[in-house]
Amino acid sequence: MFRKTRLFTPGPTPLLPAAQFAMAAADLHHRTPEFRALYTKVLAQLKVFIGTSNDVVVLASSGTGAMEAAVSNLTSPGDKVLVLSAGKFGERWTALAKAFQCETVVLSKAYGETFAIKEVQALLTPDVKVVFVQATETSTGVRHDVASLAQLLKGTGTLLVVDAITGLGTTTFNVDGDGIDVIIGGSQKALMIPPGLAYLAASERAWARMETSKQPRYYFDLRKERKSAAKGESAYTPSVALIAAMGAALDYLEQQGSGDLAKGRDLLIANAELSALCMRTAAEALKLELFSTSHAAAVTAIKAPAGVSSSDVVKGFKKEFAGVLSDGQGEMKGQILRIAHIGYLDYLDCIAIIAGLEQVLSQLKPESFQFGDGLRAAQLVYAEARQNGERQ
Ligand SMILES: *Cc1c(COP(=O)(O)O)cnc(C)c1O
Repeated sequence: MFRKTRLFTPGPTPLLPAAQFAMAAADLHHRTPEFRALYTKVLAQLKVFIGTSNDVVVLASSGTGAMEAAVSNLTSPGDKVLVLSAGKFGERWTALAKAFQCETVVLSKAYGETFAIKEVQALLTPDVKVVFVQATETSTGVRHDVASLAQLLKGTGTLLVVDAITGLGTTTFNVDGDGIDVIIGGSQKALMIPPGLAYLAASERAWARMETSKQPRYYFDLRKERKSAAKGESAYTPSVALIAAMGAALDYLEQQGSGDLAKGRDLLIANAELSALCMRTAAEALKLELFSTSHAAAVTAIKAPAGVSSSDVVKGFKKEFAGVLSDGQGEMKGQILRIAHIGYLDYLDCIAIIAGLEQVLSQLKPESFQFGDGLRAAQLVYAEARQNGERQ
């Protein structure tokens, strides 16, 4: 069978061709007016993409680098912090906070679940310096309620740091209105470019906290990056090619929004939401159980059907179609399938994934799957969304 490789994973995500060309053409020195013009433009676009007037910095690292920077810039050793953890990425906050000797209180929920705001409130004493959370827990397909959390912390001395690495571009945030102090993104997710850049926006409260933090930091000293960014530069040699790619991706979103980047971003989010809804509806029509309780638009986590390992579904999909789905991570391996709706994926991709899943599942468990059950359910969801859109 002829096969075309496709990524349906929650990072890296499929690459935007225009961004790939921009990368290949990015032969410029970083201490020149040309680079400063590019970087200044990209930083301004990132603010619109994130939806904030807070200062943004870009780091040459994967997303975890920005998570580490948030811990090392906002805390001091011995500080009490609260981590809200319900999956692999929540556990990463705990590990980071402990690595920097924070007194780390963890509100831990089972994989697939989210926490109730009341449970957070019960642990939120005035000495908690920072709350760390994911907007969308990529390992489980769960959305956490960032807006209510921000509401809870408003007017307290506690900072809210949100890993929105798969949240940005799939979730609507009111960053400044709600008071999210630090929001973090990564290049290989909704921005449709390769891994290697992390970015974050920090509130004035957060910038002020950085002045009193006693953690050691050098490369990830966000104050240095902010100062350089104001001049259109980065503190050290930036990843010039990835920044050019990021600019092209943000231009693309601006074009999608007919010249309005915020509108283009909203279309990207709506696209993820619709794809996720189609996928969930298709899964249910195929009598597959969803793993998450509060569904993220970024990624749909589906339980493997009884007697089938999700690893075999992933393998089958790769063998048959050269399409890459994600298995569960760590202890969830073999238990759940994860399908991304992040970035450069649209309804046709979603339909293709459902059709491919029907093929693979009917090979693994022929008695349980009817061709077209999932597809039909998704088609109906799409048609209804389209009609609603027209009526508006
Ligand atoms: C992808 C991802 C990260 C970052 O991982 P890196 O491999 O360091 O880029 C962090 N948090 C979430 C929720 C993610 O999806």
